[in-house]
Parts: sequence; C-alpha cells; structure tokens
Amino acid sequence: PVALLWFRRDLRLADHPALLAARETGDVLPVFVLDDRLWRPSGNPRRRFLLDCLADLREQTGGALVLRRGDPQQVITELVGETEATSVHVSADAGPYGRERDASVEHALGEVPLVRTGSPYAVTPGRVTKRDGTPFQVFTPFARAWREHGWRAPAPRPRDVPWLTGVRSEKPPDATTDADLPPAGEAAARAAWRRFRDERLPDYADARDVPGGDGTSRMSAYLKYGCIHPRTLLADLAEIPGDSARRYTDELAWREFYADVLWHRPETAREYLKPELQAMGYDDGPDAAELVKAWELGRTGFPIVDAGMRQLHAEAYVHNRVRMIVASFLVKDLHQEWTRGARYFLHHLVDGDLASNNHGWQWVAGTGTDASPYYRVFNPVTQGKKFDPDGTYVKRWVPELRDVDARYVHEPWTAPGGVPEGYPEPIVDHAHERQVALDRYQRLRDR
Ligand code: FAD
Repeated sequence: PVALLWFRRDLRLADHPALLAARETGDVLPVFVLDDRLWRPSGNPRRRFLLDCLADLREQTGGALVLRRGDPQQVITELVGETEATSVHVSADAGPYGRERDASVEHALGEVPLVRTGSPYAVTPGRVTKRDGTPFQVFTPFARAWREHGWRAPAPRPRDVPWLTGVRSEKPPDATTDADLPPAGEAAARAAWRRFRDERLPDYADARDVPGGDGTSRMSAYLKYGCIHPRTLLADLAEIPGDSARRYTDELAWREFYADVLWHRPETAREYLKPELQAMGYDDGPDAAELVKAWELGRTGFPIVDAGMRQLHAEAYVHNRVRMIVASFLVKDLHQEWTRGARYFLHHLVDGDLASNNHGWQWVAGTGTDASPYYRVFNPVTQGKKFDPDGTYVKRWVPELRDVDARYVHEPWTAPGGVPEGYPEPIVDHAHERQVALDRYQRLRDR
C-alpha cells in the first residue's frame, strides 16, 4: 500500500513522527502543496527560504518529493486517487487556517484517513491546561505546566524509507530577494543548532538581550518551517546545566505558549485578546501615512528604531529586543494599530509566524497576554543606551551615524555637531506622544 506524507511545517526527515507512521503503512509518497492562501501573503524572503527548504527535502527523498500548486483539498484527493494511497499522514497544524483546511481535506478524503501524528511543538497546542481544564492566560504558570507535561524523546532519522518515486511534480515558482537569508534545509538547521549549542549557548543568558552581539541562536526560521523540531533542541538542553540552557528553554516555551493561546482563541490572530481595548483611538490621514512610511524605511530619526527596520529589510530578521522597540514605536509613538505592524512584519520576516508574531505584537501593544498594563511604553533612547551602549548595532545598520561618538549615537540631535547630514531629525517628540498614548488609554478606561 501507499501512504501519502503531506509535508507542511515539518520540512525534515529526522525526529518526524508522521514520517514514521507513514512508513509503517507502506511506500511513502512525500508531497508538498503550494497553497495560494499561504503563498500570496508571504513576502519573498519567506518564499525563497521555503523553496530552498523544499529543494533540500527533494534531495533528501531521492527526488521523490512531489510539489503541486493548488487548493490542498483538490490536490491531496487527486494524488490519493492517482496512487491509490490508503492513508494520508501529517503533523497536526495548530493555526486557525490550517485547522480548517485539514478538516475540509479530511472530509473530502472520505474513507481514506487523515492521520495526525505529532505537531510542530514539543507539546501539541491545547494539551496544557489548568487543573480545571481551562487554558492558561499568563506565560509563567503555562511554562511551569508545560515543563511538567513533558514531551517524547526525539526519534532518529529512519534509514531506508521506501519512497514512492516517479509521480508527476510541478516546477517550483520563483522568488527573488535581496535579503541575506540563512542557509535553508535540515542539515543547515542541525549545523546551526550544534554551533550555537557548543559555542554561544553558555553565554546566552547574558548575551541574548544585546542586539549588537551574536548572542541568540537564529533558529527561528528553522523552527518555523520545521527543518528541526524543538524536541531535538530540548533533549540537548535537558543535559546542559545552568542559567543559559534554562533561559533558552523558556524562550522555546514562549513559542509554545503563543501557539497554545492561538489554538484556544483562533480569532486573536486578528482580533484583540483584550477586546475592551479594541475601541482605542488611532491616527490616520496623510500625515500619519507619512510617519508610517518613515518607520517602514528606517528614517524616523530614532537610531535604534531605524537600525531595526533596516535590519528587517537587509536580513528579513530583527533581534528580539529591537522587535519590541520598533513595535512599541509604531503603536505608542505613531498611534497605529498593532495589526498594521504585525502584517508588515509577517510580510518581511523570514521567520514570520502567525502565533509568535501576532501575539508578540499584542504583547507590546498591551492588548494581549502581557499581565502588566498598557502603559508600558518603550523609550527608544534609553532602550538604545541600555542594550546597545556603544552603538555597535546602530552603527552596523545606520551608516550615517558611524562617525557619531557613542555618547550621542542614540540621540544624535544632542551631539555637538548636530544630526549628521543625510540622517533625519526625530519625526516625533517621544515624551509628547507617550503622553498622548497614555491619555487615550485612560479615556478608554474611564468610559
Ligand atoms: P533566540 O533568542 O535564540 O530564541 C530561541 C527560539 O525561541 C527562537 O528561535 C524562537 O523560536 C523562540 N522564541 C524566542 N523568543 C520568543 C518570543 N518572544 N516569542 C515566541 N518565541 C520566541 N518569533 C518568530 O519565530 N516569528 C515571528 O514572526 C516573530 N515575530 C515577533 C514580533 C514581535 C513584535 C516580537 C516582540 C517578537 C516576535 N518573535 C517572533 C519572537 C522573537 O523575537 C524571535 O523568535 C527571535 O527574535 C528569533 O531569534 P532567535 O532564533 O535568534 O531567538
């Protein structure tokens, strides 16, 4: 018999429970469906990375991987018909669209079962709940229960998978980007993890918040596309004592937490987790549009914000601390709805992920899971001075500021020579806009 293995966010062969389940059944036909619903909103960095991961997977499967473009319901049922497959195997999708899509494919398959084995998470979203069965709303107790729940040990890569070859595959589309992307694929993911684990993990607890350094793992795009499973990372981390391994485990728990929140509340991909803040006033009109354009281009006159947005375009990636700073600036200084920034990020990031991104934005906007209130407003100057004290990060991404003394690099308007030529003056007065944001919030609470 033939088992169809439908790859989605699990583009690897090691530690892949759905692959093992398919292999139990018989010959395995590996398939990827290029679904316009997901392809269209992705920007070219994510498309390029995905296509390169698929090229790698095709090679790993001895050329068996079938790529077809179209509606998954139609493509999968057609392929089942063509190969007389008796089962379709997947890793469960926890996102709102993926769940609906899988339910409709399952329905269309009729007698042929859609078998879900594993998920892109150590603990499948929805499984960690409070004792009374309700979901966690706050990270810390979730993380504790998640750790207590535990996860299975990673399974090795199976040898001798009987791949079914010779099924028609379509030529992949093209996607070009100038962004400097990480090398794609499973071997690259494993190599990146090993390098980080052996060389940089020991300093992670201290170095992770310094955007000018190389302190984080850059594993996010690999985790997004499942080139490596978090279980593989967690198995290594469990063997490593100390703060850094614990801290890194916590960051993986954030990824699981946001997926869990989205699983329980699928509407929060677009809507506010705290609906009472939905009525918040925002700015629009031509002046607002111009300010947003300056944010997008990295020309706000606030160096750490501009450096972050320029890193986004150059690498399709932004350091976590700086993601928080630029997001806060758009929402609290430019008074834009978080959904606008979330959309922009998703389009440009190579690791763009609905759960982590949209809940990251909601956290910063104060509309999401953050237990502390809306009035957390990041000050781009003090954040810059604290986390990039010698201006390494800013100078890397904003060449106009390279000759500015480190003392002034986060507020170049105070430098004796003033703002260097070619770099903008600040587009807003941060202290004033902060007050505007807080006043709007207060009015909402007083209603
Ligand atoms: P490391 O510090 O090495 O962390 C290891 C892994 O833990 C990451 O690869 C990631 O999978 C996970 N992780 C770390 N921090 C977080 C976090 N705060 N939330 C969820 N998971 C986390 N992450 C994405 O993967 N995709 C996104 O689209 C995304 N958008 C974000 C938007 C905003 C506004 C904010 C504030 C954060 C966002 N994050 C997103 C989370 C975080 O910024 C990135 O995961 C991290 O910067 C990736 O770099 P790294 O792999 O070197 O991280």
